[in-house]
Amino acid sequence: MKAETAVKYEAELDKDFSKWLISAPGGEQIRDCIQCGTCGATCPMATYMDYTPRQIINMARQGFKEEVLSSFTPWLCASCYSCTVNCPREIKITEIMYILKEKAIKEGKYPRRFPLPVMAQEYTRLVKRKGRNPETILIALSALKTNPFSLLKMAPLGLQLMKTGRLELITKSIKGQNQLKKMLKSLEATT
Ligand code: SF4
Ligand code: SF4
Repeated sequence: MKAETAVKYEAELDKDFSKWLISAPGGEQIRDCIQCGTCGATCPMATYMDYTPRQIINMARQGFKEEVLSSFTPWLCASCYSCTVNCPREIKITEIMYILKEKAIKEGKYPRRFPLPVMAQEYTRLVKRKGRNPETILIALSALKTNPFSLLKMAPLGLQLMKTGRLELITKSIKGQNQLKKMLKSLEATT
């Protein structure tokens, strides 16, 4: 885990980033954080995170945009809501993690060669194209873009699954895909 107190000149901080987060639905709650650390203490994933949820909130408030968006923390969040239910200020930290993930993808600042952001993008693409999430293809595409050699390790298992008919290489699209596309488009227009 890193310390969030890396020294930065005021001019290097991105105050627009904190303003943006405060203006996002749910993001305004970061102003209420009293830095008690309960969220990090109850988070089952905190040991693996580079910054605790408390640190992320503190850094986001100060304008440490690069550090927050390239952090592993939002991607390691398991959405267990333990932080949210235990926060004395009722801050919806889990939702803030989602807001940060979305922003990290939009700005292309997520941690490189880390499979989860890549998987999230591939998942969205597949659902847009097919209306469903073919897990095998999702895993193969994510591995190809982050660690192609891992595909070699997966090959024997893939062959076994293919033999037993548990692995689909071609995925059919859902019925009513055009309606789904329209729904997704209107959702995108509201975000
Ligand atoms: S538990 Fe709530 S108030 Fe305490 S540090 Fe975390 S977000 Fe802030
Ligand atoms: S929701 Fe995420 S950040 Fe909150 S306690 Fe669970 S894993 Fe940690």
